[in-house]
Amino acid sequence: MSKPGKVLTFTLVIVVVLAATILVVNWRRTSQRNSRLAAVRTHRQDLNVILLSLDTTRADRLGCYGYEHAETPAIDEFAKGGVRFARAKTHVPITLPSHSTVFTGSTPVVHGAHHHSSVLADEGNETAAEILRTSGYRTAAFIAASVLDHSFGTDQGFEHYADDLGFEGSLGAGRVERSAEEVLLEARQWLDDNADGKFFAFIHLYDAHLPYRPPSPYDRRHRGRPYDGEIAYLDSEIRDFLEYLERSGLRENTLIVIFGDHGESLGEHGIEGHSAFVYETMTWVPLLMSCPGLLPAGKVIDDQAGLIDVLPTILDILGIDPPRAVQGVSLLPRMLGRERAPAPPAYIESYLRVEPSPGSRDGEMEVHQGAEPGALRSQGRSGRAREPVRGAARRGLRTGRCARRASDMG
Ligand SMILES: [Zn+2]
Repeated sequence: MSKPGKVLTFTLVIVVVLAATILVVNWRRTSQRNSRLAAVRTHRQDLNVILLSLDTTRADRLGCYGYEHAETPAIDEFAKGGVRFARAKTHVPITLPSHSTVFTGSTPVVHGAHHHSSVLADEGNETAAEILRTSGYRTAAFIAASVLDHSFGTDQGFEHYADDLGFEGSLGAGRVERSAEEVLLEARQWLDDNADGKFFAFIHLYDAHLPYRPPSPYDRRHRGRPYDGEIAYLDSEIRDFLEYLERSGLRENTLIVIFGDHGESLGEHGIEGHSAFVYETMTWVPLLMSCPGLLPAGKVIDDQAGLIDVLPTILDILGIDPPRAVQGVSLLPRMLGRERAPAPPAYIESYLRVEPSPGSRDGEMEVHQGAEPGALRSQGRSGRAREPVRGAARRGLRTGRCARRASDMG
């Protein structure tokens, strides 16, 4: 064979080998994704669901999101065993509407609860608990603070809604929450009696919310950073709860979603708490999902996700069609590597009425456009913040005092 002929043959062999390698690699990747999806389809109808809300917990105060002072080994380990959404957003930095979004998969524009004294209406809203109860799940919720009292409509679909804080009448004295230890103990007791069938449990933990009073030893370990101390305490209780699930054999057949309903300003922008504005400190939230053997472990998704997507994702994993009112999308294809399209921008609102603080520029509002974390863009002056949306029928608030107090808390 002539020299040019040998070169041509050699080049052709290289091209064929490369093409074959690419085909094999792609086939293996596709095969792995398909087998994982098949596993989801096989087991999904038997899965339990636990939805764990870390109220007021900033994503960037957790170790798995890179915080150097974090003492969150349980949450970090949980993230390693599942999927972590690096850029998850709440659509409203207020407890009641944010949870309403998680429960319905829709924004406040659709579910109608814009404010912490709104009510999630029965009519027109089909919640996660209602859908799953209809699908044969036992449903229960364990509530840590009066902001999610059943009178706000968040109990829809729950057979058991544990929102009795045990101190009726003492709200005016300042106690409006109960500890993670109390809430999780109650959840465990319910699971002991009800986990023989499929269940959906919503657990609300409120420790990271103001006032920051971490118990010992977290107060000493995080001296000068009490918010971090509260989250460290929260993490220790979550560790115990996850260990309980492991011991009781529930962990392996349970989809667990951990999310934050909004962040906390911690003094940034001259604000201590949250609610009024949509700075990233208040809108960037943790979002973690784990289901051993079904969802990938240690996966980090940088595409933006929203709390609006939680319900359609859960339903997709369980093989249940979402209601038409759901606006979010399933994150399952993204978790399985089957979705590469850019995530849509997030809708974010805040209708809390505030007076301009001395440090603000005449109450200027800023709106996050949902692009990059930290990308805040002024939306122009609005004078005072917008009026709160009114008109939602209130369903028998337990007491006016409770409602007012909840209104102070967000
Ligand atoms: Zn909240």
